[in-house]
Amino acid sequence: MQVWKFGGTSVGKPERMHSIRTLITADSGRKIVVLSALSGTTNALLSMGESAKAGNDAELSQKITNLRAHYDAFLPDLYATPEGLAKGIQVVESEFSFIRSVTGIRPFTLKQEKELVAEGELLSTQLFAVYLDEQGENTVLLPALDFMRIDADGEPILSFTEEKLGEMLAQHSDKQLIITQGFICRNPRNEVDNLKRGGSDYTASLIGGAIRAEEIQIWTDIDGMHNNDPRIVKKTFPIRQLTFEEAAELAYFGAKILHPSTITPAKQRGVPVRLKNTMEPAAYGTLIADNTSDRDIKAIAAKDGLTAIYIHSTRMLNAYGFLRRVFEVFENYKTPVDMITTSEVSVSVTIDNPEHLDDITAELSKFADLEEHDRDQTIICIVGNFSADKEGIALKVLEAMKSIPIRMISYGPSEHNISLLVHTKHKAEALNALNERLFYYEDAMQGIFTAP
Ligand code: ASP
Ligand code: MG
Repeated sequence: MQVWKFGGTSVGKPERMHSIRTLITADSGRKIVVLSALSGTTNALLSMGESAKAGNDAELSQKITNLRAHYDAFLPDLYATPEGLAKGIQVVESEFSFIRSVTGIRPFTLKQEKELVAEGELLSTQLFAVYLDEQGENTVLLPALDFMRIDADGEPILSFTEEKLGEMLAQHSDKQLIITQGFICRNPRNEVDNLKRGGSDYTASLIGGAIRAEEIQIWTDIDGMHNNDPRIVKKTFPIRQLTFEEAAELAYFGAKILHPSTITPAKQRGVPVRLKNTMEPAAYGTLIADNTSDRDIKAIAAKDGLTAIYIHSTRMLNAYGFLRRVFEVFENYKTPVDMITTSEVSVSVTIDNPEHLDDITAELSKFADLEEHDRDQTIICIVGNFSADKEGIALKVLEAMKSIPIRMISYGPSEHNISLLVHTKHKAEALNALNERLFYYEDAMQGIFTAP
C-alpha cells in the first residue's frame, strides 16, 4: 500500500482535484490519500481567529463571507451531477455553520483556534470524497482525528496510529482509495489539535511509517528537490535520489519543499519517500531512501543571517573544561550554535539568533579573548555521500572556492556534509562556482554538456 499526499495548490482548484483523481486511479494499487486544505484556506481561517480574538465582529463576519464565496464558486466546477453538487453544498453549509459558531465563542482561546484551523482539511477531504463517490470510485473517508494523536509534548504517537489506523483499514479492506486529512490530530485532552503549519507532509510520513507503506509520495507543484538554489543559480536540476540523512541536512538549510521533521517516521521504518510534481506526473521527481545509487555529490544549499564569534585563549592549550565553559554560555542564553571549528587555542562558532549577543560577548570575555564578530555570514553546505574512503571531494570544493574568502570550514562531523562560512556578499558567487565545479566540470571535460 502507498500513501500519497497532495498539498494546498494541488487541491486548490476544481480542475486540480480532477487531476488528482486521474493520478490516484491511474494504477490499481490501494492507496491512502492525504490532503491539505485548499491553498489560502488555512491562512484565511487563522486570520478569522485573529479577528475573533480581537472581538472585531464586523471584520470576522466579512472574512467568513469571503471564504464562503470562494467555496461556493468552487463547487459547481468540481461536480458533474446535481446530486454531487447537492452533497458538496451540504458539506460547505455544515462546516461554515461550525466556523460561525466556533468563532463566536468568547473569549476566543487557543482551543477554539485549533478547532477553527482544522476546518481547512475537513472541508477539502469531504469535498474530494464526495467527488470521488460521484465518479463511482471505490473510496472511503477516514477521519484523521480518530487515529492521529500527539502526546503532552506535542509529539505524534506512532504506536497509536499504527493500532487505530490498522483496525480502521481492516474494517474497510474492500476499499481501494482511503482519503484522510493531513495536519490535524487530537491531543492528550482529546481536543482537536494539529502538527503545526505545513504539517500534512508529516501526517503522510507518520501514516506511511505506521502502516509500513511500500512508499510515501509527496505531490507538490515543483519537480522535486533541486541540486542548488534556482533563484541564484541558473543551471539546476532535480536530484533523483537522496538518503534520509542528506534530505534532513537540506531541509535544515531551508529546502522548503519538505517539513524538516517530516521524514523522521519514514526513516525510522525504512519507508522510501518520493517527491512528485502534480503538473508533470511523468517526471521522476526525487526519491529519498536508505541507500541511493546516485552521484556522490548531491546538492548545495545555503543559510544566511549568521554571526561568527571568534574565541581565543592560551588557557585552552592542553587544558580541559574550556569548551564546556564556552558552550555553557550559549546554553545559559538558550542560543543554538550552528557551526563550530577549533584549533589548539581557539574556537569559532556561528549563531543565527543574535538576540543575546551582547550578554554572550560579556560572559565569554570574562575568560577568553574575543576578536570582533563577523555579521552577515552565510553557511554554504555541500551535501552528499562523503564517507571516509572517498577522495578528492574537498579538493574540488576548495578549487571552486579559490577566489572567494572562506571564514570557516567544517568537514568530517557528518559523512553527508561539508560546510563553509563566507560573507553573504560572496554567496551567489560561491553557489555558482561550486555548481559549475561539482556538477558540470567533469562532464564538460568529457564533452558532455547535458544536465547530470
Ligand atoms: N493546511 C496546513 C497549512 O497550511 C497544513 C499543510 O498544508 O500542510 O499549514
Ligand atoms: Mg505544504
